Amino acid sequence: MKQKIGFIGLGIMGSAMAANIAGAGYPLTVYNRTAGKTLDLEKLGVQVAKTPKALTAESDVVILMLTDHEAVDNVLWGPEAAVEAVTPNKTIINMSTVSPMYTRDLKKRLSSSGACFIDAPVSGTKRPAEDGTLLILAGGNEQEVQKHTPLFETMAKKVIYCGEAGQGSMMKMTINLLLGVMMEGVSETLNFGKMGGLTEDAIFDVIFSGPLNCGLYQAKENMIRNMDFPTQFPLKHMTKDLKFVVDTAYETGAAVPAAHTMLHLYRLGVGQEWGDLDIAAIHKLIDFLSQTRKGGSY
Ligand code: NAP
Repeated sequence: MKQKIGFIGLGIMGSAMAANIAGAGYPLTVYNRTAGKTLDLEKLGVQVAKTPKALTAESDVVILMLTDHEAVDNVLWGPEAAVEAVTPNKTIINMSTVSPMYTRDLKKRLSSSGACFIDAPVSGTKRPAEDGTLLILAGGNEQEVQKHTPLFETMAKKVIYCGEAGQGSMMKMTINLLLGVMMEGVSETLNFGKMGGLTEDAIFDVIFSGPLNCGLYQAKENMIRNMDFPTQFPLKHMTKDLKFVVDTAYETGAAVPAAHTMLHLYRLGVGQEWGDLDIAAIHKLIDFLSQTRKGGSY
């Protein structure tokens, strides 16, 4: 018989991931802080719990897909806390993007409950979450990760084992550093070329015709061309992740000069109230900074 799954956090990613778990036939209970977001899943026959504690009592495996450290702490240790119902036979899987340091601490804080803990952030955005083609970056006991792989495969095309708990989050920071730099890089490049008199068409043609062509730039091309940034991965979440990268590098001693600059730029985007737009709105920021420098208005 399939394990009973509890899923907490029905945002952009979690709502699609939970729908795929339900679609694969797992008995599923969900909880979300804002109650209205459970409606679509209820239509699929999914049970709704009123509190994180009630959800955990019902479930063998509890999955968290939440914004950040504060959100994870809130559902685990806040009012009607999940931990009040955690027992040694249960598994807690954190799929939210948090820092490696926080993840290692989370494992320690949960250890007295006797429950198994898996660190499993994802790479991929809204569309892969809907299509069940995410990459899962797993950390924790390898046998436990293998045991939960059929569940992960309802959401992902691949599970990549990264090491002990905390190393899934370390891989997520590593890959999001590259994502943040690449997104800013293409934005800065396009702006630089256009302000030097080149056309956007010609610049994209050169990018897509040579070794710099990649899925990320193809996915974001229309947003950049239309200066319209419907959210897949919010710019504010990239900013949070860059803060985790900088904090992690401070611990490990890694030199991350680009991450410091990226954190500054993405924070400026949040300061312009563009945090809820897609990360490609970093292009809007570069454009804004160029306009400001020319003395133009925005
Ligand atoms: P989102 O749409 O902003 O959803 C965030 C979820 O966290 C919502 O369910 C929200 O509840 C809940 N939440 C926030 N603060 C809370 C609190 N204090 N207590 C309880 N619940 C709280 O975010 P998302 O895009 O789905 O991302 C979720 C996680 O995955 C983040 O860590 C993000 O960095 C990561 N991620 C996102 C993407 C992407 O492309 N979007 C890709 C990979 C990884 P409410 O509905 O009540 O606000």
